[in-house]
Formats: sequence, structure tokens, C-alpha cells
Amino acid sequence: MSDCLFCSIADGKIKASVVYQDDAVVAFKDIAPRAPVHILIIPRKHVIGVPEIEDGDRALIGKIFQVAAKLAREQGIAEGGFRVVVNSGADAGQSVFHLHYHLLGGRRMNWPPG
Ligand code: 5GP
Ligand code: ZN
Repeated sequence: MSDCLFCSIADGKIKASVVYQDDAVVAFKDIAPRAPVHILIIPRKHVIGVPEIEDGDRALIGKIFQVAAKLAREQGIAEGGFRVVVNSGADAGQSVFHLHYHLLGGRRMNWPPG
């Protein structure tokens, strides 16, 4: 989608600190990090949010979690613990309507989330 911020980052039209990319998935540092490690993992495909995930996206969603695991190991947070978070919809605080998984770690997390 031409007017989507994360599509533009995935296409390289808007700069981001990319830490991983392949033909289906891109991961980049969040511009306003909420933890020492805060990476956003997105599908290149423009999926709006969790309710819009389709049957054909199963492999893609699995790939995103495989990338989350790889990045958690690389960033040194796999052992101590980390979160993978998706904010879906207005009540959850979703602000960019291109599906994204927050990988957060490097500090103690609170539960329940606010
Ligand atoms: P949401 O609130 O939708 O769950 O998460 C959107 C995230 O995108 C926020 O954590 C925000 O800091 C991040 N973000 C917004 N604009 C940009 C940007 O231009 N570049 C990067 N790297 N992150 C962004
Ligand atoms: Zn998009």
C-alpha cells in the first residue's frame, strides 16, 4: 500500500534501522523504544492487523515467530526473557495499521500490561 508507513519501510522508501529482512519479513528497530531491545517484525504483505490474518497467511505468521526467536537469541534476551506483543485495534493502542509484532526485552516486564 503506497500510503502505509510500514510498507514504505519494507520497500526501503522510508529509512529504518533494519536488523533482518528476507522475501517475506522485515525487522527494524522501533523509533521510540520502550525497552533496551525493541524491534518491530512485520510481513512485507500489507495485512492490517490480527483480524485480517487469512488462512493463506499461516506460514507467514509462523515465519514471523521464527524470526522473533532468532532475533531474541542474537540480541541476548532469549535466556533472560522477553515479550512478543501485538496491539490489535484502537483499545489495544494500535497506531500503525500494518500488522507488526513488538519484540521487547532487556528489562523486567510488568504483568498485566497497561
Ligand atoms: P503500535 O502502537 O501500532 O502497536 O506500534 C507502532 C510502533 O511503531 C510504535 O512503537 C512506534 O514507536 C513505531 N513507529 C512509528 N513510526 C515509526 C517510524 O517511522 N519508524 C520506526 N522505526 N518505528 C516507528
Ligand atoms: Zn502496509
